[in-house]
Amino acid sequence: EVFETSLPWVPGYSALGADFVSPLAPTPLPAPYWVGKNLPLGQALGLPDTWTSDNEWLHAFTGNRNLDNTSAYSAVYSGHQFGQWAGQLGDGRAITLGEAAGYEFQLKGAGPTPYSRMGDGRAVLRSSIREFLCSEAMHALGIPTTRALCVTGSDAPVRREAIETAAVVTRLSPSMVRFGHFEHFCHHGLHDQLRTLADYVIDRFYPQCRHADAFSANLGGNPYAALLQCVTLRTAELLAQWQAVGFCHGVMNTDNMSILGLTLDYGPFQFLDAYDPAHICNHSDHQGRYAFGKQPNVAYWNLFCLGQALMPLIEDQAWAMSALETYKEAYPKAFAQRMAAKLGFERPTAATGTLTQDLLTAMAAQRVDYTIFWSRLTQWSTAHDPKDHRVRDLFLDSASIDAWLLQFSELHAQHPYAHSTELMQKNNPQFVLRNHLGELAIQAARVKDFSVLEDLLNVLQAPFEAHAHHQDWADFPPDWASAIAISCSS
Ligand code: AMP
Ligand code: MG
Ligand code: MG
Repeated sequence: EVFETSLPWVPGYSALGADFVSPLAPTPLPAPYWVGKNLPLGQALGLPDTWTSDNEWLHAFTGNRNLDNTSAYSAVYSGHQFGQWAGQLGDGRAITLGEAAGYEFQLKGAGPTPYSRMGDGRAVLRSSIREFLCSEAMHALGIPTTRALCVTGSDAPVRREAIETAAVVTRLSPSMVRFGHFEHFCHHGLHDQLRTLADYVIDRFYPQCRHADAFSANLGGNPYAALLQCVTLRTAELLAQWQAVGFCHGVMNTDNMSILGLTLDYGPFQFLDAYDPAHICNHSDHQGRYAFGKQPNVAYWNLFCLGQALMPLIEDQAWAMSALETYKEAYPKAFAQRMAAKLGFERPTAATGTLTQDLLTAMAAQRVDYTIFWSRLTQWSTAHDPKDHRVRDLFLDSASIDAWLLQFSELHAQHPYAHSTELMQKNNPQFVLRNHLGELAIQAARVKDFSVLEDLLNVLQAPFEAHAHHQDWADFPPDWASAIAISCSS
């Protein structure tokens, strides 16, 4: 029973061979049903219009079919978890069906693999819904991310703290290669495989590294140093976008860091409610290693791990250091750019930097809701109505924000920019996937009502627009939201 998908499968990563991938088939789940479907993505991929009403696709995306012209596999990687070398990890519950249309199609929660260690290879409904929604929310926010095509569910029991039910996310990415893949081959002294992996990544995604003379002379003309620099710059850009939108990843282990600079592995992530750099969104993170404000530095630490792993190919440590050093300039620059845009300024200046810092200090001191602040500021500055107190009302100490709003208005008066309003509207979403919104979709899905999930996906796919029927989803979190505890359990 082979399912003819007629997708144009290509060998892709699996062509690297047995040192990189373990061929295996997903383990079927009984009586699957659709939980979430991403219609625009299905269309972009060229799936038949009927895919979401076709039982064969439902079974295929649950792992219940062998597919034509492609062989499924799990990949090996290692990594640092919470600052410690964790040894071999690998796709413990993810099975890649193959590559087509520029994406690897991966089933997350598809059953045991050679890398499952003590795990059951499964994923539960709640975490699968969170990954599905957040992937697409990030994409719509313009933040690089893996994508999610669908979630299917089954009533098969899965044991976590309680008994839950199984789900499978079909996750898509041009590549799932993580920093941890490089660490794996370096750690085992497999330098030929390390080079094969680096060459694969360069040839597919960073061909400019072959022209290493186009990079600064500090990189010694070494293509692998150039690769390290490219990844460093992408990661800096990603972290700036996370910080600007108030996204906390929660488990920035090196095995969760994408070589393409994508947001990867949606576990205990959270969009901030109140602004707080010390906020820890992962209840398993007792030390606060991955607290919101620490994430840009953690990314730099992770890049060092990648640099170390590439050293057998880079030869001269100074070249690797030069590549890594670019983070120190690129991150603050990218962050300043993003924050200036949120403030409605065409380009960042010393003055927009001061304005940003003063604002974040005031917001942290008074635990102001991050997303609502930026939404209201966008409206306030559009209407130019000093009597609109909705921005001020967010601060207990309104004097502090009055002074700031005055500076903000004066800077705009000094540097008028015709498209300021549009810029703010494009950079300050009204809707983000707050924990409690995900929870609403999860609770409904548990009783087989998937309409909340569908509506929420639609809203999150257009986060900068008003949504008349769901404007309450742009509102403050309800009291019960603070009781939601998200851990690594998934
Ligand atoms: P994460 O914390 O999601 O980055 O996962 C870390 C490692 O644990 C990865 O190698 C995962 O594949 C693996 N893993 C997580 N959950 C499971 C599970 N239920 N069964 C098998 N492996 C798992
Ligand atoms: Mg992971
Ligand atoms: Mg995970």
